[in-house]
Amino acid sequence: MYRTHTCGELRLSDAGKQVTLAGWVQKVRKMGGMSFIDLRDRYGITQLVIEDTASKELNEKAEKLGREFVIQATGTVSERSSKNSRIPTGDIEIKLSEITVLNEALTPPFTIEDDTDGGDDLRMKYRYLDLRRNAVRKNLELRHKMAFEVRNYLDKQGFLEVETPILVNSTPEGARDFVVPSRMNPGQFYALPQSPQTLKQLLMVSGFDKYFQIVKCFRDEDLRADRQPEFTQIDCEMSFVEQEDVINTFEGMAKHLFKTIRGIEINEAFPRITWQDAMKYYGSDKPDIRFGMKFVELMDIMKGHGFPVFDSAAYVGGICATGTANYTRKQLDQLTEFVKRPQIGAKGLVYARVEADGNVKSSVDKFYTQEVLQQMKEAFAAQPGDLILILSGDDAMKTRKQLCELRLEMGSRLGLRDKDTFAPLWVIDFPLFEWNEEDGRYYAMHHPFTSPNPEDIPLLDTDPGKVRANAYDMVINGVEVGGGSIRIHDSKLQNKMFQLLGFTEESANARFGFLMNAFKYGAPPHGGLAYGLDRWVSLFAGLDSIRDCIAFPKNNAGRDVMLDAPSIIDDSQMEELFLKSTYVAKENN
Ligand code: ASP
Repeated sequence: MYRTHTCGELRLSDAGKQVTLAGWVQKVRKMGGMSFIDLRDRYGITQLVIEDTASKELNEKAEKLGREFVIQATGTVSERSSKNSRIPTGDIEIKLSEITVLNEALTPPFTIEDDTDGGDDLRMKYRYLDLRRNAVRKNLELRHKMAFEVRNYLDKQGFLEVETPILVNSTPEGARDFVVPSRMNPGQFYALPQSPQTLKQLLMVSGFDKYFQIVKCFRDEDLRADRQPEFTQIDCEMSFVEQEDVINTFEGMAKHLFKTIRGIEINEAFPRITWQDAMKYYGSDKPDIRFGMKFVELMDIMKGHGFPVFDSAAYVGGICATGTANYTRKQLDQLTEFVKRPQIGAKGLVYARVEADGNVKSSVDKFYTQEVLQQMKEAFAAQPGDLILILSGDDAMKTRKQLCELRLEMGSRLGLRDKDTFAPLWVIDFPLFEWNEEDGRYYAMHHPFTSPNPEDIPLLDTDPGKVRANAYDMVINGVEVGGGSIRIHDSKLQNKMFQLLGFTEESANARFGFLMNAFKYGAPPHGGLAYGLDRWVSLFAGLDSIRDCIAFPKNNAGRDVMLDAPSIIDDSQMEELFLKSTYVAKENN
């Protein structure tokens, strides 16, 4: 037996026991004639001690130990004279009688501590060492617990976990595909699933009724903090349901996770907001509602008074930041710089302070009478001490998005975006289509299988842009943690949808014929949703990036720097796959 106990297990009540532990040497300290070794494993750290009366042989062995050596140590559990209340094993130490080195280790390239000295790149290159650190390991433990509770909840609700293939054809989520050449089918490629969307719909046709899968999905997109080329979805589908049923089931799952993982009991229903209102009041389809600061539109009040910037704008609107009227010139300049950054792109920022006497003092006073400024103050219900920040622009949607960034910035500055506060909500009534100016055509906002709101079906012929979808997203703290829809199960309606999306009959058949065919054999009404597991975990762990809750993530260039993937394959492998590369490496690259 390698060990009798783990390094996180022994307590004062074990004093006197003869034990054997195994683990990694975190640290060795010499104090007078005594040596102390911190031994670490997944479960914790236990202090080992070699007393000054120990044998010469034992002392010599201890002297040779280095950081991260793997050892086995036997001794007696004893009460410590100076206790360490910061660790659960801090009341005891092991007085050693024997050490066996199981494996030596090179000095690690960074310290295996909570506050490591290793930079990002180094830690990713040696990710297996990074994973020895508490902080990273804890995230993976949390991930395991969450996946476990997901299965627990869904199993109790009668869902079956069914695996779907990874080597498939292009699936329609609107991103680029990762493709895999087929040796046995020269010149042909599989695509990795962007989601199991069509397959889970087929499972409904098969009568599975309630399906789920914790599943890898692949999308070849530019990476951001909340995106990885491969990520994990909790993918679900149900038959004989309406939007309300799906929302209830998955709100139940969210509440189950809040309770079992974070100990937060939520009894009331999550708020719901229409997509229209989300855009109008927050400038975003994933609003962070941990704080208010809703947008107020000012076109009626502020246009037509001779201020050319507002007079020519399609949108004028603002937010009211409580208690910040005392912002200095410098702070206001910083905010102006913030909204003018290229990523945000506003032309400028107008501000108005509500002074102690209730008067409003603005940066555009020369165009407005106090009476108009008071009307504006009323529109915000602003109080003395508040600061009103206004943006305008000739594209209402763009300006709202800019104002959204400003609102989030002010929320952060005012400490209103605490990571341990959670504000979930549903965004509903998404538009079915999104118009793309460049291509001059509609795209599905969610995916082409999303059903229109039955009331809006007549608009499909007259004004498709106005059709609302039976689609819903769950948003927590400004993060879209999942979304789904009620699907079209009628092949005629589905064909119409394909037409509107610019597919010819042949191209729709070539891509989705298998699904359309299946729908002819008795497709039940169905709908579902997918939650992003990585996003849920990072939200619960308070992380800024989903990378930190993935064991072996890719970097921002989509590379695994530890495996050095992707990489070039040799000519014989290319030949076998009937491939030729047209890529020409740049000089000095
Ligand atoms: N397949 C969708 C997605 O990946 C989720 C769904 O509609 O169920 O976003």
